[in-house]
Amino acid sequence: MIRLTLRSLCCRPFAVLAALALVLTSIPTPLLAAGSGRDLNVVRDAEIEQLIGLYSRPIFQAAGIDPRRVSIVLVNDPGLNAFVDGRRLFMNTGTILAAEHPNQVIGVIAHEAAHLAGGHLHRLRDQARGAQTLAVITSLLGAGVAAAGMAAGSSNLPGVGAATAAGGVEASRRTLLSYARTEEMTADRSALDYLRKTGQSPRGMLTIFESMARGSALAGVRRDPYVMSHPLPQDRLQALRTLAMQSPYFDKKDDPTLQERHDLARAKIAAYTSRSAGRVTSRLQSSLARDYAAAMTELLHGSPQRALKKADSLLRARPNYPYFHELRGDALIRLNRASDAANAYGRARQLDGGNSAVLASLQAQALVATGQPDQARQAVQALESALRSDPETPMGWRFLAQAYGMTGDVAAAELSSANELFYSGKIKEAKIFAARSQTRAPRGSPIWLRAQDIIDYKPIITKKR
Ligand SMILES: [Zn+2]
Repeated sequence: MIRLTLRSLCCRPFAVLAALALVLTSIPTPLLAAGSGRDLNVVRDAEIEQLIGLYSRPIFQAAGIDPRRVSIVLVNDPGLNAFVDGRRLFMNTGTILAAEHPNQVIGVIAHEAAHLAGGHLHRLRDQARGAQTLAVITSLLGAGVAAAGMAAGSSNLPGVGAATAAGGVEASRRTLLSYARTEEMTADRSALDYLRKTGQSPRGMLTIFESMARGSALAGVRRDPYVMSHPLPQDRLQALRTLAMQSPYFDKKDDPTLQERHDLARAKIAAYTSRSAGRVTSRLQSSLARDYAAAMTELLHGSPQRALKKADSLLRARPNYPYFHELRGDALIRLNRASDAANAYGRARQLDGGNSAVLASLQAQALVATGQPDQARQAVQALESALRSDPETPMGWRFLAQAYGMTGDVAAAELSSANELFYSGKIKEAKIFAARSQTRAPRGSPIWLRAQDIIDYKPIITKKR
C-alpha cells in the first residue's frame, strides 16, 4: 500500500507513512496548488483496487457503463464515503473497513453507479471537465465534500470550519456533491435493479444505509460525509426496505472466495491504519486474514525478518494469492535483498494479471535498487507498459526516471520526471522538465511530442482561496 497526500492543508501524523518511507525512497509530498478546504489522501494499493474493480465491473455493466472507462481511486479516510466523478469511482478505505461483507460495499457501488448512469453529476462534470490529473480533480472534490457538509448545516466536521472561514466558496460548489431527494430515490431504485440483474442481494445496501442513518456505522464521532451528500430520511429508507425485500436474491450470501478476499483487504486496511487494527482484526472471521494483519503489523512495526517468515507461511496456505507475494517483496526490500524483492514483486504482478501500475512501481523500485543497468532496463519495460494504462501513478514515473537515468537516457528520464510532476498536480514544474527533455530529443520524436503535450496543457482554473 502506498499513500500520497493530495493537497494537504494541515499536518497529519504520518506514523505509517514513516514506515513506508523505508520502502520508497521518498513519498510524494503535499501536491497541489489549487485551493481546497479538506485534504484528500489517496492510497494506491493493487489488492484493494483490484477487489473494488471486481465488485464494480458487473454493476457498471448492468448500469450500461463501460467499466474500463471508470477507474478506482482509494481514499485514505476512516469515514464512510464513496462518490463518482464521471471517470472515477472514489472509495473511502473506511467504507471497506466498516463493511463486514462484500455485498455491503457492492450495494454502495450500485447506488453510486446509478448516479453515474442517471447523469446526476452534471454540476460536477462541468467543474471537472478538462481536469486531466487526479490531483486537480481531487482538489475539486475535496472542496465539494467540504461544501456539501457546510450546506447540510454540520459545523462539527473537521476541516469544514476552515473552509468556511477561508470564504469564497461559490454557490455551485455548495451542492457539488449533494444530490436532490428525487435523485436519491431514483438512484436507490436503479441500484436495486442492477443488483437484481447481477443476481446479488440488496441486503448489504439496505443494512449499510440503515446503519449510516443511525450514525452508528462506525465508532467515529463525526457524521459520515456520505450521509451529508446523500441524505437518508426515514421515508427513503422505508421505500428502500420494502423494495429490497422483494428481491429473490435477498437472502443470498456472498461467494466464500470473495468474502475471503474482502477480509484480507480489511485486514490490510486495519494493519495500515493501526488505530483500529486490534478492533477490526479480532472481528475478522478468517484466521488467514488475522494472520495477514499480523504479518503486516510485523512489517510495519516489528521485524522484517519475522514478517518474511509470516509471508512465507501465508504463501503455504495460498501459493497463488498475488498480494502475499507483494508482502514478501515488501519484507525482502527492507532486508536489503533487492534482487529477491524484485522477483517476489514480479511474481505478484504475474499472478495479479491486471498490469497494475502499483505492483510495476514496486518491482521497478527493487530493480533500480540492485544498481545494475540491465535490471534498470527491465524496470523500464515493466513501467512503460503499466503506466500507459494507468498514468496517474506519480511514484511509477519517479522510478521510471531513475531507471532511465541508470541506462543513460537523459531525455526519457527528464520526460518521466515531467510526468511525475504533472500527475502530482505540479503543472508549472512539469512544463519546465518537459521543455528540458525537448532540448535533448529530436523535434517530432515520441519524447518530444509527449513533452509538447505537457507544455500545451492548460489546467482548469480553480480559484485559490
Ligand atoms: Zn446518493
